[in-house]
Amino acid sequence: MSTENNNTLYEKSIKILTDLISFKTISGEDNTKLIDYCDNILNDIGATSFRTYDSEKKRVNLFSTIKSKKTQNKIPIILSGHTDVVPVSPGWSTDPFKATIKEDKLYGRGACDMKGFIACALAFAPIFSKSNLDRDIHFSFTFDEETACIGAPILIKELKKRGINNGICIVGEPTNMKIIDAHKGCYEYTTYFEGLAGHSSQPQKGVSAVEYAARYVNKLIELREKLKDRAPKKSIFDPPFSTLQIGGIFGGIAHNVIADKCYVNWETRPVVKEDGVFLNLELDKYVNEILLPEMKKIYPNSSIKKEIIGEIIGFDRLENSEACEFVSGITGDNSREVVSFGTEAGLFQEIGISTAVCGPGSIEQAHKIDEFIKLEEINKCLKFLDGIKDKSIYK
Ligand SMILES: [Zn+2]
Repeated sequence: MSTENNNTLYEKSIKILTDLISFKTISGEDNTKLIDYCDNILNDIGATSFRTYDSEKKRVNLFSTIKSKKTQNKIPIILSGHTDVVPVSPGWSTDPFKATIKEDKLYGRGACDMKGFIACALAFAPIFSKSNLDRDIHFSFTFDEETACIGAPILIKELKKRGINNGICIVGEPTNMKIIDAHKGCYEYTTYFEGLAGHSSQPQKGVSAVEYAARYVNKLIELREKLKDRAPKKSIFDPPFSTLQIGGIFGGIAHNVIADKCYVNWETRPVVKEDGVFLNLELDKYVNEILLPEMKKIYPNSSIKKEIIGEIIGFDRLENSEACEFVSGITGDNSREVVSFGTEAGLFQEIGISTAVCGPGSIEQAHKIDEFIKLEEINKCLKFLDGIKDKSIYK
């Protein structure tokens, strides 16, 4: 790229990033306007797209394609990003939904996680479309990644249906443009207990939801120890085993009232899928064979219901990863790292798409007050996209 082109491309990325930040796409909220904005940019340069939705049609995934100009002889590239951001807590020194540049940084919610990557991809899209592409370039923009990857599975299902199950996917989460090729899964649950209220002086006549929840939590802690013993021999993670954590217990109204309702928030981060299966089987067994029968003996309408908030599957390291080699071939950086946060990478990997996580900005600044992206990261990402173009054209 010439310096002049470089500059306009950079300016364009900043303009797009500014626009993207101004859409308040907090997870769970309507992201249609942002998707329309992205769709328009891509549509104008001749890309074709389709959308998938949540059940209320309020939140949208966009999948858009710039077609290859030749009969395809290379597998497609998918540039993948989530459009939602985490909520803002008070204390920002700038308006979180107004991009603000100070010195070498751009501040705003989503600046690094991960509207920065989406902005670069959109700014670069016209160059892709003018090039002699010999492979398809796809853009995948999803909703509600931050709340346990709710949007992506809906899109992936559609990709499978359309036969898009081959390719190289780059998930542009903030990694300072380094390759991340593995992370643990992240499963979140809320378990609801319903018993029978009563006076505390007659505990035998009620079913205390709080007490059954306490036993359930004890069981979880017991199973947590078993997960440690199950750690794979050559685990690449820190800690090397699957973890489990109780996030909260909520129930009861007074000292002298038997609580009829209680719920427990908990999560587990499996290093291998089998640990998640093991844990849920053991837990369900304990509920169905011990806790529930005891509760129902006193009050037949008692219940224990486990709600899946989200099950982000893990992203497994593969020795031979086409995606990692592809990215290394551009950046010249052969290192591969693991991270402790979850992404959509495992979902793409699961349907056979070779995947690497690599994007501008640092996770250090994600989800925080005064989130920012260093401006040089934008340039690094644009250079990377230029490298993708070079590997996707015929002469
Ligand atoms: Zn993210």
